[in-house]
Amino acid sequence: MPSQSAQTSDRLAARILWGMVAGLALGIILRMIVIRHPALDTAANWLAREAFDPLGQVFLGLLFFVVVPLVFASLTLGIIQLGRLSRLGPLAGRTFLLFVANMAVGIAIGLIIMNVVRPGDRLAPSTKTQLIENTRSEAEDVQTRAATQPRLGPAQLVETFMPRNLLKAIVEFQILPLILFALLTGAAGTQLPEAHRCRVQGGLEIVAALMTRLVDYAMRLAPYAVAALMASLVLRLGLELLRPLLIFVLCVVGGIALHLFGTMSLLLKIFTRRSPIEFFAAIRTILVTAFSTSSSNATLPTSIKVARERLGVSASTAGFVLPLGATLNMSGTALYEGCVVLFIAQVYDVPLTLSGQIMLLILAVLSAVAVAGIPGASLPLIIALLANFQIPPEGIGLILGIDRLLDMARTVLNVAADVVTACIVDQQVRPAIERPGSA
Ligand code: ASP
Repeated sequence: MPSQSAQTSDRLAARILWGMVAGLALGIILRMIVIRHPALDTAANWLAREAFDPLGQVFLGLLFFVVVPLVFASLTLGIIQLGRLSRLGPLAGRTFLLFVANMAVGIAIGLIIMNVVRPGDRLAPSTKTQLIENTRSEAEDVQTRAATQPRLGPAQLVETFMPRNLLKAIVEFQILPLILFALLTGAAGTQLPEAHRCRVQGGLEIVAALMTRLVDYAMRLAPYAVAALMASLVLRLGLELLRPLLIFVLCVVGGIALHLFGTMSLLLKIFTRRSPIEFFAAIRTILVTAFSTSSSNATLPTSIKVARERLGVSASTAGFVLPLGATLNMSGTALYEGCVVLFIAQVYDVPLTLSGQIMLLILAVLSAVAVAGIPGASLPLIIALLANFQIPPEGIGLILGIDRLLDMARTVLNVAADVVTACIVDQQVRPAIERPGSA
């Protein structure tokens, strides 16, 4: 039977979808009125700017609130937990390597698809101009910051990662120094005496839990915010943007399917000699649970049970790799983050060069590690990524209505990649563990 929180989350997902439909309908009706009565154009623009947009801004503002503490607490926590890993030797090394490789390949697939299809470019130039016009002040703000952004060279690279004033960098939403600071603090945390480490870990867990609550508040507002943002966009731009949005959804789902059935099957075949078809048949309960809950954490009990009972993964590997994976290994989320950033960059005509995209790949891996295994957890991190690449974060309004649907899909990949990792690691470390005399 689904848990109460799963039911609440399902209800919320349905309401967000209804919010999107209602916003679309309202936007279309108002737009048709404006087409018939062009004199009302100014009033319609006022309505979009002064009524619909502020509601959307409250939602975005709540997410902005949590970005810095959430990134810091979750990344530092992740590293402190990884510190434990280093003591676990080969099991830990392989697990971590596979996690990073899975996420990096996921993002690379997403970025390649987005570069080839370029759904964000499919907006008519006039619609694009209007969209850019609507967010001109934010865009100007990020452009000013982009202009003062140092170009890449060794000295500038150090300055980018380690500015004199960390707080100033954070205020300007540069997440690189924040990420580095969190990684270093986490590394230092692993060297604290046990009692202190536990206290730091406990404190960070509380901060992460508090921030997650704030994300919950934002999500409760989401149905209304999505309705308002959709209505505002359609009222100003017409239905023009639905086509690129649909193509974007297809790109993301295609990327997820490719990574899930392509890369994962390949890894299974090469490292475990398991048949991918049998593997996917065995884990279908996991996939369905991940899809319906949109939460790696909520799927964890099912993953452990199925991995042990149907895939024969040892208790120690399953108990080690799967909980860690539900927290750190987010291949689907990483892929999605890369796609969203590129899509919104394309819509807003913000060029992302090859080196920019490589940086995006690295940052998306790191920020995916910081994403909690709960529904919608990647939204604040995506906002931080957008701000980091000088892309108007308001652009996230474009994908909010379809986020939940894609959340279901990306969670499936997140969890499947954990189980594949568990199978590979188990296959490799088991002979060592089972060798007579070994622990
Ligand atoms: N819902 C995802 C998970 O639990 C996280 C996210 O991408 O929002 O794995």
